[in-house]
Amino acid sequence: MSSISEYFKSLGTGIVSLVKGLQVTGSELVTPKITEFYPEDRDTYKWPERFRARLELIYDADGRHRCIACGTCERVCPNGTISLDIKTVESPEGKKKKKLAKYHYDLGTCTFCNLCVINCPTVALEFSNDFEQAVFTRDKLKKTLNDREDRQEDAGWPEASATPAAAPQASASTATAQADDATAKKVDALKKALAAKEAALAAATDEAEKVKIQAIIDKTKAAIAALAPAAPAVDPAAAKKIEALKKALAAKEAALAAATDEAEKAKIQAIIDKTKAAIAALGA
Ligand code: SF4
Ligand code: SF4
Repeated sequence: MSSISEYFKSLGTGIVSLVKGLQVTGSELVTPKITEFYPEDRDTYKWPERFRARLELIYDADGRHRCIACGTCERVCPNGTISLDIKTVESPEGKKKKKLAKYHYDLGTCTFCNLCVINCPTVALEFSNDFEQAVFTRDKLKKTLNDREDRQEDAGWPEASATPAAAPQASASTATAQADDATAKKVDALKKALAAKEAALAAATDEAEKVKIQAIIDKTKAAIAALAPAAPAVDPAAAKKIEALKKALAAKEAALAAATDEAEKAKIQAIIDKTKAAIAALGA
């Protein structure tokens, strides 16, 4: 007798467990998907501003960086990721000055601790959020930060564009404003470089030279677009995603209106908030 009752007891437990499992499956079926669609959404995805991908020198509108070759970043770096080649030159006033020759940076050993950026007295460094840095050999992770083709490396004395040191513990809003300002400056500098290269392209007669200049122009345009993307036409894939999210949102809002249990309501509200954020991120 007891074995029959145990049989029915375990059968009941099994059915309850099955129903619970199906409840979870059912709720997941209608939950909006938040999976990233990289690389398909590469053109529309917005990478977080503060994401640290690789170290860069900041250039001003005249194509000059603010590095004064003081060596602080090299000294504070815990990994020996930075090494500087420094030369001595004579200033227009006849004084001997240190000047940056090559800024070597090994992305492969960088821990993205930001110490170099924080400690630079002239705010010459920043981290870009250009995360696509994968290469096939470690050697290619070794970068020279001051050899970009679209920069006028020796356009002038770095001191001329140097600014006072930023307070390391700047408030979040100050940091955001600085980031916006730096981005605007970068866009300006790139636009100037673009205009110069377009003029050079118009004047060039040699085909090989033209191809080279055109490649630089394309890269510069891509860099400008990445920094200041034009208002975008929503592409069909994004439009579909938005539509699906809006449908899911409507379903969840209906479920919220019908719900009576407070915990359930909070759960649905959290999903609604996430869905709205996802829709906003897609630009709708
Ligand atoms: S980047 Fe900044 S800390 Fe590094 S050498 Fe130049 S001025 Fe000094
Ligand atoms: S972020 Fe840190 S590890 Fe990377 S270069 Fe700067 S100081 Fe070195």
